[in-house]
Amino acid sequence: MTHDDDFWRLEKMHKLGLMCFHNDLRVADNPTLMQAASDCEKLICVYIQPPDDLFDGYAIAPTTLRRQQLYQSLDALDRGLGAFGQHIQAIADGSTEGLAALLERFDPSAVYRSEQANWRVQARWSSVAQRFPETAFCEVTSHTLFESSALPFKVANLPSSFSKFRRQVESLTIPEPIAAPASLPPPVTTPDIWRQRFSSAEQQSDTLIAGGEAAASRHTQTYFASNAAQSYKQTRNALDGWENSTKFSLWLACGAISAREIIHQLRHHETQQGANESTYWIYFELLWREYFQWYAHRHGDNISAFQGIATSTPNTSFYPQRFRKWCLGNTPYPIVNACMKQLNASGYMSNRGRQLVASCLVHELALDWRYGAAYMAQNLLDYDFASNWGNWQYLAGVGADPRGHRRFNLHKQTQTYDPEGHFIALWKGAECEARLDHVDIVDWPITD
Ligand code: FAD
Repeated sequence: MTHDDDFWRLEKMHKLGLMCFHNDLRVADNPTLMQAASDCEKLICVYIQPPDDLFDGYAIAPTTLRRQQLYQSLDALDRGLGAFGQHIQAIADGSTEGLAALLERFDPSAVYRSEQANWRVQARWSSVAQRFPETAFCEVTSHTLFESSALPFKVANLPSSFSKFRRQVESLTIPEPIAAPASLPPPVTTPDIWRQRFSSAEQQSDTLIAGGEAAASRHTQTYFASNAAQSYKQTRNALDGWENSTKFSLWLACGAISAREIIHQLRHHETQQGANESTYWIYFELLWREYFQWYAHRHGDNISAFQGIATSTPNTSFYPQRFRKWCLGNTPYPIVNACMKQLNASGYMSNRGRQLVASCLVHELALDWRYGAAYMAQNLLDYDFASNWGNWQYLAGVGADPRGHRRFNLHKQTQTYDPEGHFIALWKGAECEARLDHVDIVDWPITD
């Protein structure tokens, strides 16, 4: 290499870059941050809040628990960046105006963010990109295992079912996680305002889990150092119990850890403790996550449409009283009530629980599935746009389920997953009104 080559390699492409963190709140294995670091002389790091409007103007306001967890994750990210002389300088709301204001304030020549599956986030990004034609807008894959270019099909031709998808991608090579950058470009000096945006209540930390990159890494290492993964397939459907499933979603959703890092640690675990059907099944479930990410990319705004990707609308509607009962855990179905009360108190619900409450909402209560999805979007600590809406569509019969409809027999499910009634007793699921409706079909009060 000549002296000149060296010089050009050191020359940065952009004087000032804007690094927008979304659901990639980490320093390690963050390809977007790496890209921004290698392109820019100076870098401003900001956090972009997700949009709070979902469908038909239905707004979501994340619960205090989730805001607390987000605060912890941002605080941890800020400290992680601090090791490189960087920090989070602002929080912007994810509206078009919010993004545009950010660009006007800092005037960067390039903007970086991780690829987003949420169609509304995409639409806003595109509209801001049009308003700032002189600025380079760069998107980098950081939320999925594979890059779209590594998939053996175009995203527009995503297989119609998970099984077909899995067969095509299962044996692809998953890129190794990348280490944290050796250094980061310095920030520009502006006052930090983001901490003031969180009230002191939200800065308290009584959440189910500790948020942030270090906590995510500790949890993953502890999980794989134990032998829980060796029997994951037998325990994963339990309604309760910390070690019965991995709980990775609690950190994956905001990107405190990457899916690639988890696979890396899974493979290491397999070399130490052996590979078996259970360890394979962790990969299998992460492929479900992968499928729903690309599914959201593929189907755009259909992901929050009433008829989803189906050709006709479901035969359900919206009954405010029933919906309220479902939210509060006051339906005639104790297992559903227990799961909903667990969600309301902790921000978490097992996968089996989510399937049961979704099936109940759609089939037993005949409710529009989108309200159930929106309620989970507000309440789940691990809320992930693609996983949540994709799973809801699937269970509502308007998504990727080749069988079209999946109705769970709640009585049988209770016998299988809570035969002694411990879970229902723990969450007081049986304390409910036996009657579902208080008004009849023409809104006339029903009397005894
Ligand atoms: P594990 O059983 O240990 O699975 C390991 C990982 O695989 C999970 O962390 C997750 O990343 C992935 N995974 C497992 N099952 C699924 C699945 N069905 N779809 C997508 N990924 C999966 N997951 C979310 O992360 N965010 C959501 O908002 C979300 N909403 C859901 C809504 C409904 C109605 C249903 C039925 C499922 C939803 N899921 C969601 C998927 C799944 O329930 C959770 O990922 C899982 O319960 C999280 O607990 P865990 O990490 O212990 O899972």
